[in-house]
Amino acid sequence: MNIEQSKIPQATAKRLPLYYRFLKNLHSSGKQRVSSAELSDAVKVDSATIRRDFSYFGALGKKGYGYNVNYLLSFFRKTLDQDEITKVCLIGVGNLGTAFLHYNFTKNNNTEISLAYEVDQSKIGTEIGGVPVYDLNHLEENLPDDVTVAILTVPAQAAQSITDRLITKGIKGILNFTPARLNVPDDIRIHHIDLAVELQSLVYFLKHYPYEEK
Ligand code: ATP
Repeated sequence: MNIEQSKIPQATAKRLPLYYRFLKNLHSSGKQRVSSAELSDAVKVDSATIRRDFSYFGALGKKGYGYNVNYLLSFFRKTLDQDEITKVCLIGVGNLGTAFLHYNFTKNNNTEISLAYEVDQSKIGTEIGGVPVYDLNHLEENLPDDVTVAILTVPAQAAQSITDRLITKGIKGILNFTPARLNVPDDIRIHHIDLAVELQSLVYFLKHYPYEEK
């Protein structure tokens, strides 16, 4: 994201990709304007929040007209740096890692897993989903400088030491799929996704906080 982004609250910034995806679909179906109510229905964010979010980037909807889809799209494209591809490395080509390599976020055209690392000799030297798998022992020698993001899908006990090595190599952001809580300097961003916890929490909420039938 670019400099303009720094004026936008983090909660708003997190919703931008959601808005962007929906607007792209609208645009390809030929729609030129959209109301905050329509957007709200599609992205499940209330329309007052959408209006406030959009006001941060100078998109003021007109009553009875809504928002101009082209204007919004070009803003999002710039803000989310859609023209620039962020290269990502993945560490740990197990079940989850393998799935990510095959998936490779092809629907986001601004991120790409360009290489992976492993300790298992049977996987090292192979290509999975077109992504080369290297020996983790060679990370310091062959992780390219332009790779700034890492996905961690290793066993929890290996996560911290690999994180330390990644940071020394200049990685700035880590998507952590291990249950380990990672200690990192303040300038490194970690997003933690523990799928087991998310699933358990969904089941808990279903049991204890069911939505009332309308
Ligand atoms: P997943 O959680 O991805 O479904 P899995 O059950 O296939 O995993 P795990 O034991 O979680 O396997 O390991 C994930 C991958 O990380 C494996 O391919 C394993 O070889 C690799 N791995 C194990 N230890 C390390 C390590 N210290 N450094 C890097 N990779 C490791």
